[in-house]
Amino acid sequence: MGLKPNGNYRNLKDSYLFFRIAKKVEAYRAEHPALTLYRLGIGDVSRPLCGAAIQAMHAAVEDQAKAETFHGYTPECGIPEFRSAAAGYYARRGIRLDPEEVFVSSGASDELGDILDLFETSSPALITQPAYPAYVDASIMAGRAVSFLNAGPDNDFLPLPGPDTAADLIYLCSPNNPTGAVYTLEQLQKWVDWANDRGAVILFDAAYEAFVEGDLPHSIFETEGAETCAIEICSLSKTAGFTGTRLGYTVIPKALEREGMNLNAMWVRNRTTKTNGISYILQKGGAAVFTDEGLRQVQESIQFYKQNARVLTEALDAAGVRYWGGKNAPYVWMACPEGLKSWDFFDLLLNEIQVIGTPGEGFGACGEGFFRLSSFGSPEDTRTAAERMRVLLMHRQ
Ligand code: PLP
Repeated sequence: MGLKPNGNYRNLKDSYLFFRIAKKVEAYRAEHPALTLYRLGIGDVSRPLCGAAIQAMHAAVEDQAKAETFHGYTPECGIPEFRSAAAGYYARRGIRLDPEEVFVSSGASDELGDILDLFETSSPALITQPAYPAYVDASIMAGRAVSFLNAGPDNDFLPLPGPDTAADLIYLCSPNNPTGAVYTLEQLQKWVDWANDRGAVILFDAAYEAFVEGDLPHSIFETEGAETCAIEICSLSKTAGFTGTRLGYTVIPKALEREGMNLNAMWVRNRTTKTNGISYILQKGGAAVFTDEGLRQVQESIQFYKQNARVLTEALDAAGVRYWGGKNAPYVWMACPEGLKSWDFFDLLLNEIQVIGTPGEGFGACGEGFFRLSSFGSPEDTRTAAERMRVLLMHRQ
């Protein structure tokens, strides 16, 4: 007898993608200490926090230094200023949210796992793959059955529900990591109609929404009826540089109910039990991101990354390589040349031209044969890496 650990952890696969990359790079560096490596594998940002956030956080630190302006515990679901600022950001696109539908978070990763508390573990999850690995692992840790819906070139990496698609929870990510694919409004509407028809809930990961251009949707709440079937999980990481500072937000509509239980009210109960709020300083910084000046600065950084993405896609175009993403997302998802497997292509790039990317197989079995390039690196490294790839790939199609 005695204490039983959570046996679901036995069902997790070793998460070896970034570990294996680091090992290979380390070994190569030891053998070739004089060679420069060009990193197109990073999922972290390289630009600093936007100035508006920094200024607001400095002022908030000063608030904490004086008894008259000091803040102790903050409200568990977020300070009103942050919740209103985030709701105001949606209002700019015509989406009306009650600030009480916005919950502050420590980032999207935390929420993607924590939010599963709202659903019985007997409700199976459907995950479109290739996918950000946290969806699968958080579901398995919770003891939830997981099934997959494969994305591929045939559906432009944007799978849609069919007559046999069954699940209670579905994770969607648009713009997608790793493929960079973005659902159109019509496509998202199909998912929303499917979810409303069968009483499923969509967990919509919008971590990269700020990269979207033109008419494509930033939010699932741009569709009709999403307020009765969707939760949107957002992050300031890739937009305003909060990867190491940690801040995000989650939208749970008040109209979202299942079996007479209100999911917004349940999340209030969850947060007031499991958190004591999020740093006042960070929330003040986060609220400043949504000001005109903050949003202008965010776009400046995004355009900086997009220029890197353009450099990469131009090189792939010149070499005649098929790819997805790169336009409305920081990631370019390319087909490996000559039918190479993704780890073999990783080795080829490292050994021949010292470029490091991310093998698609690490994002799920259907990522095999594809490769992710990130635009978060420095422009200099990106230019050198792109030119080296162009030359290498011209001879390998
Ligand atoms: N969702 C996706 C698709 C991501 O790629 C990432 C980070 O890379 C996250 C969520 C996590 O973001 P955060 O830094 O807010 O935890």
